[in-house]
Amino acid sequence: MLVDAERIAKITAEVCRRIEAMDPTRVQIGVSNRHVHLSERDINILFGVDAFEVLKPVRQPGEFAATQRVDVIGPRTTFKNVRCMGPCRKASQVELSLTDARALGIKAPVTQSGHLEDAAWVEIEGPCGRIRRQAAIAAARHIHMGDSHAAELGLKNQDLVSVEFEGVRGGRLDNFIIRTKPEWLPEIHLDTDEANALGVATGDFGRIVR
Ligand SMILES: [Zn+2]
Repeated sequence: MLVDAERIAKITAEVCRRIEAMDPTRVQIGVSNRHVHLSERDINILFGVDAFEVLKPVRQPGEFAATQRVDVIGPRTTFKNVRCMGPCRKASQVELSLTDARALGIKAPVTQSGHLEDAAWVEIEGPCGRIRRQAAIAAARHIHMGDSHAAELGLKNQDLVSVEFEGVRGGRLDNFIIRTKPEWLPEIHLDTDEANALGVATGDFGRIVR
């Protein structure tokens, strides 16, 4: 019987993939484009409804891209049709890359989601209204994962780790905040500036190093 080299290569690749999938330090990358979270009150002002409509779920359970889009207005330019992400939050939040912030003409701090004390002021416009909120941030690097996954790595919520990325523009980035919730799937969140600098895309993998 002849050896089917192509078949063996396929099986080898699949075995490698499964071995890598068992490695808890290897985590899938999700690249976040600019997006907006809104409070219930602000959804009402901008769209005249009480809740977002689901366009499609994203990787993290319960979270979704909404059909609704808004314009984000800064002193220098306007980003039209920026995607809203649901469900609604306690406070509205605009997540941007630092390149986006520069284009808008604002100084967005690098900070954790929900920490808006130093956020930049922006205007947000929807079909039913326009608001001005202290809402714009560049999300601090972070990794979502379940509590048990974190424990397996000897980590807990809010710990800091570094991540290595492969490829011709690969490298190592520091100061990723570990964020845990029991239901979260492991995912390294990068913004478009970070992903472009590293030459990585959603679905690629990074490796957690301490
Ligand atoms: Zn995230």
